[in-house]
Amino acid sequence: MESAKEHFDVVIIGAGPAGLKCAELLGGTDLEIALIEKSETIGGKVCAGGLTVGADLPEPLLLEAVSFIRQYVVLNGKEYIIDMDGPLNIIDRTALGKFQLELLKDYQNVKIMKGIKVTRIVSDGGNSYMQEEKSAKREKYIITSDGRKISFNFLVGADGSRSLTRKFLGFKSKFHIGAHYEIPAVFERVVWFFNPENLGTGYCWIFPHASFTSCGVFYDPDVVSFSDSKKVLDDMLGEFGIDYSGVPLRGFPVNCLYKGLKFDNIYLCGDAAGVAFPVTGEGIIPALETGAYVARDILRKEEMFEKLKSMLKHRSKQSRYLGVLNRIGNHHIQSFFFKLFIYRIRGSLAK
Ligand SMILES: Cc1cc2nc3c(=O)[nH]c(=O)nc-3n(C[C@H](O)[C@H](O)[C@H](O)COP(=O)(O)OP(=O)(O)OC[C@H]3O[C@@H](n4cnc5c(N)ncnc54)[C@H](O)[C@@H]3O)c2cc1C
Repeated sequence: MESAKEHFDVVIIGAGPAGLKCAELLGGTDLEIALIEKSETIGGKVCAGGLTVGADLPEPLLLEAVSFIRQYVVLNGKEYIIDMDGPLNIIDRTALGKFQLELLKDYQNVKIMKGIKVTRIVSDGGNSYMQEEKSAKREKYIITSDGRKISFNFLVGADGSRSLTRKFLGFKSKFHIGAHYEIPAVFERVVWFFNPENLGTGYCWIFPHASFTSCGVFYDPDVVSFSDSKKVLDDMLGEFGIDYSGVPLRGFPVNCLYKGLKFDNIYLCGDAAGVAFPVTGEGIIPALETGAYVARDILRKEEMFEKLKSMLKHRSKQSRYLGVLNRIGNHHIQSFFFKLFIYRIRGSLAK
C-alpha cells in the first residue's frame, strides 16, 4: 500500500554542521521542520577539525578546542616558523555534532529523523530541477529509505559533497580529496607541508587534537593520483618519525564548486553548495555560515550578511588563483607562489 504524503514547511537533508545550524535558527519558530540524517549518529565525520577562518564558535566548543599560535610550514624541505596573530583552533567533530544537536532538544517544531536516507527528490513534472525551470510552482517531494513521501515549502540540501539535492538541481561538482590518519598519539606541533613537485597545489597537515593527531593530505585528484598523494603523506610522516602502522587512511571528497545558495524554494549549503575553501579544504565555518544564511532567508530576516559575502569573495579569489596555478602546472612556479604567500603572511603579522 502506498504511504500517505506528509508535509513539512522546511525539509533539511543532512545533519552536518550546515544542516544543524539551519535547524537551530529555524527552531522555536512557527514553521514545522524535518531534519533528515542517514546516519544513526550525528557528528564524527572524517575531518581534521582545523579552523583558521573566522571561528565565531560558541565558548564551550572553543574551550574544548586545542589552539596553536605557532605554525610550522615546510616547503620543499625548508621549514618556516610563523607565529600567527590569531590561533588555529582544532575542534573535535563528534563534540561539534553533539553540541549542535543539544541546541535543538527544546525545539518542538524540529523533528529529527536519524537513520533515514533521502533516496529521491521528485518533481511532479520530471526528475530534475532543470526540466522544471518554467514550472517552479509544481509540487516537489522527497522519498525516504523508510518509504515516506514528504512534500515541503522549502527544501534545504545540507547533504554534503555527494549531495542528492545538488544533483537534482543539475549542478556538477568539483571534488578535492581529503584523507587522514587519526594517530593515537599527540604530536606537539601544527605542521603544513607543501611539496609542489609531487603534490601540485595540495598539502599535508599534522593537526594535534587532545587525544590523537590528525595527519592528512588534501589534493586535487585531477592533478595528483591517490597513490602519489598517499606517498607524499607517508614520506612526511616518516620524516617526522610518526608511527602510523595499523592506522587506516580514511578519506572523503570535498566539493569546492560554488554555484549559488538559492534556487526558487530549494537551497544548498555547506559542501552541497561547494563553499569549502579550495586551498585548505576548510568547510566547517562556511557550512555554519551558509546554514545560518539559509535559515535567515527562509525567515526573510536578512539579506546575505557581510561576513558571508566576504567569505564567498575570498574563496572565489582562492579558486581563481588555484585554477591558474594548476593550469601552469610547473612546480617551480608553484613553489615560488607558495614562498611568496609564506612571506606575505609573515609580513602582515603584527610585530
Ligand atoms: C579528511 C578531511 C579533513 C578535513 N579537515 C577539515 C578541517 O580541518 N577544517 C575544516 O573546516 N574542514 C575540514 N574538512 C571539510 C569539512 O569536513 C566539511 O567541509 C564539512 O563537514 C561540511 O559540512 P556539511 O554540513 O556541509 O556536510 P557534512 O559534514 O558532510 O554533512 C552532511 C550530512 O548529510 C548526510 N547525508 C548525506 N546524504 C544524505 C541523504 N541522502 N539523506 C540523509 N542524509 C544525508 C550525511 O550523512 C552527513 O551527516 C575536511 C574534510 C576531509 C574529508
